[in-house]
Amino acid sequence: MIQVNDICKSFDKLQVLKSVSLSIADGEMLTIVGPSGAGKTTLLQIIGSLERPDSGSVIFDGEDITRLKDSRLAAFRNRNMGFVFQFHQLLPEFTLEENVALPALIGGTARGEAIAHARKLLNDFGLGSRLDHRPAQLSGGERQRAAVARALINDPKVILADEPTGSLDSHNRAELYRLFFDLRQATGKTFIIVTHDDTLALSSDRVIRMNDGNIIEDSAR
Ligand code: ADP
Repeated sequence: MIQVNDICKSFDKLQVLKSVSLSIADGEMLTIVGPSGAGKTTLLQIIGSLERPDSGSVIFDGEDITRLKDSRLAAFRNRNMGFVFQFHQLLPEFTLEENVALPALIGGTARGEAIAHARKLLNDFGLGSRLDHRPAQLSGGERQRAAVARALINDPKVILADEPTGSLDSHNRAELYRLFFDLRQATGKTFIIVTHDDTLALSSDRVIRMNDGNIIEDSAR
């Protein structure tokens, strides 16, 4: 489903990815682990088309996203990829339901339909009593669950998560694992997760270990 071919990326003189190749199957839950500075986030951002590589390609469901122009790429990304970051990145001035509806509104869904869908997702995630709250009124765990709802609103094929449990305490971390595993069971979506969290890595289908811009271990091989 996703084919990463010979990706190189440098920031100034620092080579962060050194010809990385990887293929990811539909429905796989893959974690990317390794020390700080190994290039994990950069690889995730290139797969998610948030960053462009210097060379190499990313083929996503048959489409070479590294060749798409910015305007088409933004629409492709909004339709096909859902993002969860370490810090929820909900917009403080919007209510929870508006935050979750936002990617659907950007994709052209009518407001009523987008809000209705957002409410359903938030209800499913136990946040039905928080629909008109602002992010600042929620706990860290609630905010992160809302961020997962936002990632799902356009029914993307892939969820990309960067340290999704990094800002949570152990109770909320356990809840987020459960949410991811339930979603994976229920939806068959592909998950690509950068994490320092051993529990999450050990429960995934496949662990990619990176060091110094290279993949040094792939548990699928
Ligand atoms: P990891 O996620 O494994 O910690 P990153 O991909 O975040 O690694 O970063 C790899 C290296 O690239 C780090 O040394 C980081 O400082 C550098 N880096 C990442 N993004 C940028 C950027 N936008 N500009 C300059 N350097 C960057």
